[in-house]
Amino acid sequence: MSRYLIERIEAAPNIELMFNTEVAGLGGTKDASLERVRLRSRLSAEESAFEIRNLFLFVGADPATGWLEGCGVTVDRAGFVVTGAQDDKRKAQAASALETSVPGVFAVGDVRSGSVKRVGGAIGEGAQVVAALHGFLGDTARPALNSVSGWQRSDPALSLKVNAAGRYRMEGKFADVNGIKLHYLIAGRGDPIVLLHGFAETSHMWLPLIAKLSDKHTVIAPDLRGFGQSSAPSDGYTKAAMAQDIHALVKSLKYDRIRLVGHDIGLMVAYAYAAQYPGEVDRLVLMEAFFSARHR
Ligand SMILES: Cc1cc2nc3c(=O)[nH]c(=O)nc-3n(C[C@H](O)[C@H](O)[C@H](O)COP(=O)(O)OP(=O)(O)OC[C@H]3O[C@@H](n4cnc5c(N)ncnc54)[C@H](O)[C@@H]3O)c2cc1C
Repeated sequence: MSRYLIERIEAAPNIELMFNTEVAGLGGTKDASLERVRLRSRLSAEESAFEIRNLFLFVGADPATGWLEGCGVTVDRAGFVVTGAQDDKRKAQAASALETSVPGVFAVGDVRSGSVKRVGGAIGEGAQVVAALHGFLGDTARPALNSVSGWQRSDPALSLKVNAAGRYRMEGKFADVNGIKLHYLIAGRGDPIVLLHGFAETSHMWLPLIAKLSDKHTVIAPDLRGFGQSSAPSDGYTKAAMAQDIHALVKSLKYDRIRLVGHDIGLMVAYAYAAQYPGEVDRLVLMEAFFSARHR
């Protein structure tokens, strides 16, 4: 209810507001007209009857959004879907006022938190969201739906690019490892090769190589902590810690030994990996940067 209406009601001399009170019973004549309403205090359970001939019940709204639980869409205390509020990582991006906390997922109408609960409002938002959806789908820089835990799916555009033969699909996935969410590309079948990208790059730098290697290997290319679609926490950026992220990812994929390739700062992480888990690295390729013992 709007503040304006609340103030009008509070100011009206012929309206008595009774808080913590519920309707306990109705009384009337045989011809079914209402004569009395019994009210019960929720605090004392005390009941009192009033001569009332008309009763209007405002039942409120109870959004059926329980099924959204666990998929990352934020709802307010009453269960309505929150839109227009972006997480920290996405603050730089202009987001639609109808977009939920999950990129590419929109909410309109009564189910949206703060919407005008009227037919006209729902229709207007329904029309408006079409433009927002077109904007989202046309903007390839935005993260894909698979950035949501539990909603992992392959990225068809990438699959086509990497594997024109269609032999193996490449998927963009997320893993909860070492206290962060790590995004990684995975393709092919066979002995695992892990590719670690360099500074200002992401897993996507490996796309041409993934296409070649995925015929004979399972290729895993993560976005290092702080890069791409992986979490960017405020700390944990020692090469040893970043190597532990990758190790946890490898373990989560049930591999005991890997071949490891690092480029640029990925080289330093790869070296820290091999230094910490020497018995779990079959081959190590270090490209285009220096490394030192302190990277362990
Ligand atoms: C008693 C009453 C009187 C009203 N009178 C007026 C009025 O006079 N004027 C006015 O402008 N507005 C009125 N409203 C409000 C108006 O009806 C709503 O604002 C409007 O219908 C909202 O439209 P919507 O599409 O957002 O949601 P809805 O019309 O509620 O449509 C949502 C649909 O989604 C379906 N659904 C829910 N969950 C799922 C699921 N998991 N999977 C698939 N489908 C699902 C539901 O079954 C429903 O069909 C009234 C509402 C009520 C309850």
